[in-house]
Amino acid sequence: MIRVVVDMIRCEGHGICAELFPERISLDDWGFPIVDPTPVPPGLETHARRAADLCPTLAVLLRTVEPGTVPPVPPRPAAAPTRASPNRPAPPRPAPPRPAQSRPGGGAAGSGRRRTGR
Ligand code: SF4
Repeated sequence: MIRVVVDMIRCEGHGICAELFPERISLDDWGFPIVDPTPVPPGLETHARRAADLCPTLAVLLRTVEPGTVPPVPPRPAAAPTRASPNRPAPPRPAPPRPAQSRPGGGAAGSGRRRTGR
């Protein structure tokens, strides 16, 4: 038996894997895969192999599961905070750009031009 693993370093969020193997792979709000780590039954192995073969970045990996063993489930990365999260404050916004200041006699500050006195 096999199980599906996604290398999240390689994954670019194309979402093809979820279309080819919806029985074990769904997509999060950003289009990145959420994989069911349970072993794939023999009747679905064709779908799993197609998802692995057609992933553009080869991020879908198939691991062999020995009969009678319980494979370790890889840890999921912590979810990034979002503005919609009620328990976390929104990250601070960057300050807006300041308008260029003009100097007496013309020329913007920091323009790099020197006055010659002529
Ligand atoms: S097809 Fe490959 S690159 Fe695209 S979301 Fe799935 S694992 Fe990631």
